[in-house]
This record gives sequence, structure tokens and C-alpha cells, in this order.
Amino acid sequence: MPGGQYQVANTKRHHSLYSLTDESEAGPDDEKADGPPRLTPLQKLTTDKDEKTIKELIIGRRVGFYKVRGEIGCGTFSRVKLAFHALTKDKVALKILDKTRLDGQAQRLLSKEISSMECLQHPNVVCLYEVVETPSRLYLVLEYAGGGDLHNRIYTEGKMSDNDSKITFAQILAAITYMHNINVIHRDLKAENVLFTSSGCVKVADFGFSTQVSNCNVALDTFCGSPPYAAPELFRDECYLGPSVDVWAMGVVLFFMVTGSMPFRAETMGKLRRCVIECAYTVPPWVPGPCQRLIKGILKKAPAQRYAVDQMLGCDWLLPVQFLWPPEPASLDSERGDLAEEVEEEVRGLLEELGFSTEHLQNNQPKNSRSPVTGVYRILLHRAQKRRGCDSPPVVRGMVRDPKREGLRAYRGLRHTSKFCVLS
Ligand code: ATP
Repeated sequence: MPGGQYQVANTKRHHSLYSLTDESEAGPDDEKADGPPRLTPLQKLTTDKDEKTIKELIIGRRVGFYKVRGEIGCGTFSRVKLAFHALTKDKVALKILDKTRLDGQAQRLLSKEISSMECLQHPNVVCLYEVVETPSRLYLVLEYAGGGDLHNRIYTEGKMSDNDSKITFAQILAAITYMHNINVIHRDLKAENVLFTSSGCVKVADFGFSTQVSNCNVALDTFCGSPPYAAPELFRDECYLGPSVDVWAMGVVLFFMVTGSMPFRAETMGKLRRCVIECAYTVPPWVPGPCQRLIKGILKKAPAQRYAVDQMLGCDWLLPVQFLWPPEPASLDSERGDLAEEVEEEVRGLLEELGFSTEHLQNNQPKNSRSPVTGVYRILLHRAQKRRGCDSPPVVRGMVRDPKREGLRAYRGLRHTSKFCVLS
């Protein structure tokens, strides 16, 4: 959620919502027509509680402003369902938690999940739109990622091509770099938590084990995550630094993507532990050299020797990957930049069209996830950003010669101009 302020001004409308709502035939001139004033979509939704709506609310087919549809996944404590915003018609994922099943620890993890997600706004991180609470349930309204998860993709289609691996890994790296820059540690990065949108954009999800630290050098001591992705220091029961364990998990994900198998496998937990502590893995020789070097730079026993995210960003293997928008969301931050201002103006216009008044918006704290006004604001903001291409996956332009394979002479030649040679 950007730190933008809600302000309703007399804005020119860039894009109409009417085509998306029940009021598709309506237009601004209708207000001047004789007879009773037309109800706005918001008024219709909140005043017309017909029998059907009431029944839907009772049986859980409607939650707040959302119409609930089929199940799309389930986790240890949650079920995830597809839903639609009743006003904007946008698809969302509804993560449903039964509060009666949550013990003290699960409640603490959940509140960390919510507070981490509230401060994250990045094209490669699943966006939290709203939190809806009823006496028995908590609903996290999330951006919908309809392209499945990375684990399932590799399980069904096998290892990824070099280019697809690059495109996917570059987006995971963009998300983790962003999180670490604002001191959020994921702690449960795994292929199952890497989701795709239908356009192939990566969305890192599931912040159930995440934590916010005052700075990235704070030592942590809670064992979190999934054993095949856990770093050696976690198995050694030592205190650990958050960024290093996320980096290790990224190395495991990368290995899995390019080979289709996990680097550390064993029949028992004891054997897996030994394998990880000894850092016993072998990269198949057919994995391209630059990618092998990246894996080996990440999967190192000693956290201090492991690549930092900045080193990964500049590695040979990722050099030809180009984002079509800046991977830093600053240009889309509503407090900075012309583009952000334009986006904000569009969203304000759409909110007005739906029937949100100046008063509604002024009385709403934009960072309050428990407000339905925030929910619709974030959905519209995200939609406006997507229309400007912020959910487009990066592309691979040209190819990079592997200096080690080109021979020392060619390598010396390259070093004088640039470190690597990108051929387009
Ligand atoms: P776990 O016990 O594995 O940690 P969890 O209870 O934290 O799970 P999630 O992993 O967040 O729940 O979600 C469970 C499943 O729901 C995911 O594997 C995924 O298939 C689906 N899912 C979650 N979020 C989304 C989303 N935003 N869009 C689409 N599908 C989603």
C-alpha cells in the first residue's frame, strides 16, 4: 500500500468503471435527468440487501464486499477461495482462517503475516488488499495469482528452460531484494510459495513465517520454514541472520528450477539434516556454467560467504534479463513521480464513479487494512498500475558469453570493455 492520501478532487476521468458495474448504461449526464436520483453502485450494494444477498452472507458466499466462489487451495490453517469484489468485479484470493482453530502461536504468526504484508508493495509480492473479520473467521483479501505455483509447474512439466528459469528467478530476486531493503524476512521461501499470474508474473506469497526486523543484522533464533529449503545454520540450532536464510532458500529454489530435482534429499530428517549441514550437493554438469556459479555462490555452508542479493543481481547468468518497468516500485509510489500522480488521479475518479464521497475517503485511513474503502482503493490502484505494465514479466535480451568457456584470451579482451558481453 503506498503512502498516498485519499483526496477527492474534480478529476478528469481517464477510464470508466461503468462498463464494469451493474450501472453499465449510466453516465455522468444521468444525474441531471428528471425523477429520483440514480443510486451509485455503492448505494445499491449497501442499501439493497435483498433476500439473495442476506442468504449469501449467512452461508458465507458473501464476505464484506466480496462474492465468494470455489476453493483454490488450502494450507495448514487456512482455506483459500476465489472471490470477486462486488463493485469493481476484480478477482481476488480470499485466505480464510478459522479463529477458533488458532492457538496463541498461530495468532502471533498471523498478526506478523498481516503486518508484513501491509508494508509490502511490489509487483512480485502478493498484495494484501483488505482484512475482513467476523466473530469466528478472519479473511485476508489477496491479489489473485491464477497461474499456479512453481512447485506444481515443475512437478507436472519438469525442469524449466534456461530462459524461463532466468525470468522466474530474476523476479523472485527482485521481490526478496525489496523485502530485505525494508527489513522484512520471508523465512518460508519455497517453490510452493512462488505463485504466477496468468500472464507469467511471479508473486511471492505466504508471509506466515515472515518477520520485520529493525535491521538485517539482527540475529534471529526461531526455526522457521520447510526442511528441504532450510539453511545449515537452522539445522545447527544456531542464531541466524534473516537475509542469509532467505538467500539459501533462493539457491534451493534455483537448483530445483534448473534441474527439476531438489539439491538436498533424504529418506529421514536426520539424513537430510546431515546432508544440508555438510552442504552435500552436486550440480549436474549440463547446467550452464554461469548458472552453476550462481548456485555455488549461494549454497555455501558459511552464511557470511554466501552471495548477498546485490551480488546475485550482478551475476553473469542474470545479466541479459531486462525488466520492462523499474524493479523498484518507487516510480509507482503515490508520493513520487508523475506516473504515480496520474495513477492516483485515475483511482480517485473511479472511486467517485462507484459512489465513494469525499467524506468516505477523508474519514478513511489509507493504511487501515480493515476498512472496505481501503480494500477497493488498493484494488483499483493495483488495476491502474497493471494497466501501465507493472505486472509484465521481464524478458531475456540477447545472450551472455560465458567467459570461462570462451577461453582466457577472449576473456581478457572482454574485460577491457565490460565485464560481460551481451549480444542482442
Ligand atoms: P502453508 O501451510 O503451506 O504455509 P498457508 O496456510 O499459509 O499454507 P497459503 O500457502 O498462503 O496457506 O495458501 C494455500 C494455497 O492456496 C497455496 O498453495 C496456493 O495454491 C493457494 N493460494 C494462496 N494464495 C493465493 C493467491 N493469492 N492466489 C492464488 N492462489 C493462492
